[in-house]
Amino acid sequence: MTTTPSAAAMPEAPAREPDDALAGFRLDAHPMPGDGAFGAFGGSWIPEILVPAASRIAAAWADARRDPEFLAEYAHLCRMFIGRPTPLQDAPRLAATASGAQVLLKREDLAHTGAHKINNAIGQALLARRLGVTRVIAETGAGQHGVATATACALLGIECVVHMGAHDIERQHPNVERMELLGARVHAVDEGTRTLTDAVSSAIREWVGDPDGIYYLIGSAVGMHPFPTMVRDLQCVIGHEARVQCLELTGSLPGAVVACVGGGSNSIGTFMPFAADAGVELHGAEAAGDGVDTPRHAASIVGGRDGVLHGARTMLLQDADGQVLPTHSISAGLDYPGVGPEHAQLAASGRATYHPVTDDEAMATLELVCRTEGIIPAIESAHAVALGLRLAAERSADETVLVTLSGRGDKDLATIAAYRAGRV
Ligand SMILES: *Cc1c(COP(=O)(O)O)cnc(C)c1O
Repeated sequence: MTTTPSAAAMPEAPAREPDDALAGFRLDAHPMPGDGAFGAFGGSWIPEILVPAASRIAAAWADARRDPEFLAEYAHLCRMFIGRPTPLQDAPRLAATASGAQVLLKREDLAHTGAHKINNAIGQALLARRLGVTRVIAETGAGQHGVATATACALLGIECVVHMGAHDIERQHPNVERMELLGARVHAVDEGTRTLTDAVSSAIREWVGDPDGIYYLIGSAVGMHPFPTMVRDLQCVIGHEARVQCLELTGSLPGAVVACVGGGSNSIGTFMPFAADAGVELHGAEAAGDGVDTPRHAASIVGGRDGVLHGARTMLLQDADGQVLPTHSISAGLDYPGVGPEHAQLAASGRATYHPVTDDEAMATLELVCRTEGIIPAIESAHAVALGLRLAAERSADETVLVTLSGRGDKDLATIAAYRAGRV
């Protein structure tokens, strides 16, 4: 006897395969402000000695972003190396837990190296090659951006040095081994707290020593002009694809688009392709740690004030004297006291809304995603899904909430185990 799977158990195959969602992507879809200003935010608050190098990178990006050959090479590597377009997946069992809107997950966890960071690393490594530098440097905290940069440099045959705090080197050893295997040199920074901030200072010192020969590859939509613009332009591949895929899948645009906000690169890349769609709400999830009413959080927009950090005017966590405050999040990728300046502007104008998500809410959601959809998300991404489920619960079944799942959770297994054992 043959058995035919019932219609209820097996989703019907689509009539045709979705169109190539990457087609039609442009790097110059959004304006590049000449001075890097996003309203009152952004700009270039840097030492005089770095001005020529930053200006050269800005001029090179202004040129590359509208060069069809540069775009063609970026799109080729997105397809052949990163594995784009990444799927937009309907998540009905997860959505059922909120009993509201349909939930769609943009699967950046399926990008090569397991997160969206590679989209940026490949694009900037192509620019570094175009500038003819001899070396790319980067800083890394948990090691994810270091691995993405080492990967891009290996592919393009560029020397790579990653600055990393000595304490982080101990905590994140598998990523150190990955970087070294990929041919990068990991420079241990043995100063200060021996973590990310000290690694940033060390990388800037190396850059100042040879601003013409070195390209400093920044990993999020933060820092001095042109980095917030350039990282946004490259990460907009996420939102461009998601918009095409959502129209293909549902016949309409989502009611809300959601992403987590550390420095703000996967979120700005998700948001901007929807920014001109008046009916689409934009929502960012910030890391609330133990809660925004406690000192242990990393919610720079919800809990911060206007100030200058790492070369840009933006929202950041600071005390009454303007000293940057220590942060806490269970997720290393969201544990940063500032945020990209374009988010500060989107918050000020009201076009996007930012919400706190605590460690506990993110960890409960992480387990839910594992068990309902068979995906182990990064802890960062679980913050976005948690917010997405809150928004879905407020909406009806004929509406759609689109959530960017920024990365996979394999890197977080030790943290997840410690949390479940009550040790975090
Ligand atoms: C680094 C990281 C983030 C946070 O960085 P953004 O620049 O805010 O996107 C989020 N998710 C994952 C998986 C990361 O690795």
